[in-house]
Formats: sequence, structure tokens, C-alpha cells
Amino acid sequence: MQITRKSFLSLENLTLLALGTGILAGSGIPAIMQSTAWVGQLFLQLLKMILIPIVSVSVFLAMLESKSRERVRKLGLWTLAYYLTTTALAVLLGLFLVQVLHPGAGRAPLSSAAPVDLKKLELTDLLLGMIPSNVFESLARGRVLPVLVFSLLMGLAVLSLPPEQRTHLERPARALNDALMHLTRWVIALTPLGVLSLVGTLVAREGLEPFRGLLTYVLTVLLGLGLHAGITLPLLARVVGQYAPYRYFLQIREALLLAFSTASSSATLPVSLRVAQDRGEVRSDVAAFVLPLGATINMDGTALYEAVATVFIAQLYGIQLKGLELLVVFLTATLASIGAAGIPGAGLVTMGLVLQSVGLPLEGIAVILTVDRFLDMVRTAVNVWGDLVGARVIQRFLSPSLNL
Ligand code: ASP
Repeated sequence: MQITRKSFLSLENLTLLALGTGILAGSGIPAIMQSTAWVGQLFLQLLKMILIPIVSVSVFLAMLESKSRERVRKLGLWTLAYYLTTTALAVLLGLFLVQVLHPGAGRAPLSSAAPVDLKKLELTDLLLGMIPSNVFESLARGRVLPVLVFSLLMGLAVLSLPPEQRTHLERPARALNDALMHLTRWVIALTPLGVLSLVGTLVAREGLEPFRGLLTYVLTVLLGLGLHAGITLPLLARVVGQYAPYRYFLQIREALLLAFSTASSSATLPVSLRVAQDRGEVRSDVAAFVLPLGATINMDGTALYEAVATVFIAQLYGIQLKGLELLVVFLTATLASIGAAGIPGAGLVTMGLVLQSVGLPLEGIAVILTVDRFLDMVRTAVNVWGDLVGARVIQRFLSPSLNL
């Protein structure tokens, strides 16, 4: 009896309940839900509070735990290869679906949409943004990617030190890491409350109105995301990673619910790290390396969405993208998803890059803006699922028995 009650009242179930209640309450009692917005903000702030310390310390520690630069190199190569492959698969699927379903068909061609305020984005900006010119500034501004790059480099440098010098740094880092894990667990305990408020206020604010008129586009994106998350990734998990994806999904679902509710891979990262290790049987060194990297560069959902949205916008302008242009969309959508930060709406910004690459006007974004928040929630959950599936797959290739 005790066990049943305990598992029913588990954090995952409570979070799920909060999600459902949030949707109902957001549409039933919008004014009340709006007045609870601060609860969700508080929760987000707590997640952000622990994010930068966790990324700096856990990535650094993961490098030290890898023991040798050779092992780090292997881990890095496997991780990048896996991430690029899954992102490419997601984009291909998106391109296929949007070509076949043609969601822009049957609509009057767009001549010029309402102006949107988006500055031009260059690929070089994305690359330069990865390297911190002043690491303290990046820390202070909460920029995850440059902080991650610095921690990786520092970890590599420390690995080059003689072992007795290394331990001086390893022991405090380990203690700090353990303390941060406690802090994370406390914040995680507040998830149901945070989710209730975040989802409730969102539904209260936006309602369901924006979906009218864009339904086929929304459905195309959702179908793509669903197929990638429900078939491609589980297949990889089973065939390449050799583990049961559904069981793993249940073990880590807390992180997916949070990704959906916050629309931010970065805000979800502390929770992904926790559930992967506590429940998902992912080793700490693998999780601490693969997941932070994934949260910043591996966004399957975003890549798929950017490809679909670009072709959809082209269709609205009466343009049929073909051959080489589709290849350009494929490449830039992959790059743009790598460059997107793990924060709400980031994919919409980097999509400017994809549109420009095939000569489409940035204004096209205005059309899909209204449904973006909802699609952002779904694609973020797929992004995080992609990272978590990756952690277990990569772990297999680094298992000591395989001598890697
Ligand atoms: N919100 C997404 C994420 O954090 C990025 C995006 O806008 O697609 O993963």
C-alpha cells in the first residue's frame, strides 16, 4: 500500500498532474492563473541560479574523471558524431514531410508580411560567440556555451598536469559538485508548483486562438517531431545503444516534462543531469560531458522545425525550393540549430540564417510567430530527449568492457 501511494505521488506524476491542471486552470480561470506568474518566474530563476555553477563544475569534473586526454578525445568524437547524425536525420525527416504534406498549399501567396524586428545573423557570429573573450563576463551574463568551452579547455589543461597536482583541484571540485547536486534536488522538488504556474499563465495569456489557420503547418511540425522522438531515436537506442527506450523514457520523463514547460534546454539541464544519473543508469562522467554539450549544441527538434518552417514560408511566398536549395536548407538548419541557445525562442532567431541562405525575407517569420511558443515547448522536449538518448548510446561505446 505504502509503495503504491508513494509511486502515485512521485514527482513525475505530480508534475504531470500539474501540467494537466495548468492547461485546464489557464483556460478556466485565466485571471487567477495570471496572478501566479511570479511562482513560475521564481522557479525559473532558481533553475538559472544553479545552471552556470553546475555547467562549470560538472564539465570540469567530467574531464578529470575521464582520466586521460585520449579518453576525452574518444568521448568527444563519439558525442559529436552522434549529435550530428541525429540532427541530420531530423532535418531530413522534416524536409521530407514538408515537401510531401505541403502545408503552404491552398493559401494566397504572401507578398509582404508584417515587419519583424530581427537583426541579421551571420554564421561567424555564432562561431565567435562560442569562445569567451572574458570568461568572467560570460559567467556573469549566464552564457552557457562559452562557459562550457572554457570548462572543457580547463579540464583538458588540468589533465595534462602530474597526478599529485591534479588531486589538489579534483577534490574541491568533487565536493562542490556534490553540494550543487543537493541544491539541484531541492530545486527539483519544486517542479510541480513551477510547472503549474508556467503552463497555467501561458495558456491564460495565449489561449488556443493562434492555432486557427496554421493548423496544417503545426501538424506537419508535430508529426515530424513525433516521428523523430517516437521512432528514430528509440530505434537508435535499441539498435545502437542496446537498451530499452521506453523504460528509459519513463525513468527520465521528469526532464522532458520540464523541458516542455520551460521551453528551455538550458533551464532543464540541471534536472536532466540529475535524472540521467539517479534513475537513467547513466554514469556520472558520461552524463556530465554529454548532457551539457547536448543542451547547447544538439537540438534535433529545433533543426527539424527550422527546416519545416523555412520550406513552409517559401511555399507561402509561392516559391518551390528544389535540389540545391534544399541542400542549403539542410546544411544551414543543422548549423542554425547548433548555434541556437537553449532558451525559449532561440530557434526562431537563428532561423533567420536559414531563410537568408535561400534568399527568403526575414519577414516571413511573422506568420509563424503566433504558434511559435507552443512548438517551442514541443521541440525543446524533443531536444532534451535527443540529448538523453545520446547519453545512454554513447555510454555503451565507452564502457570499460569495450576497452575504450
Ligand atoms: N527553446 C529551445 C531549447 O531551449 C531552442 C529553440 O528555440 O528551438 O532547446
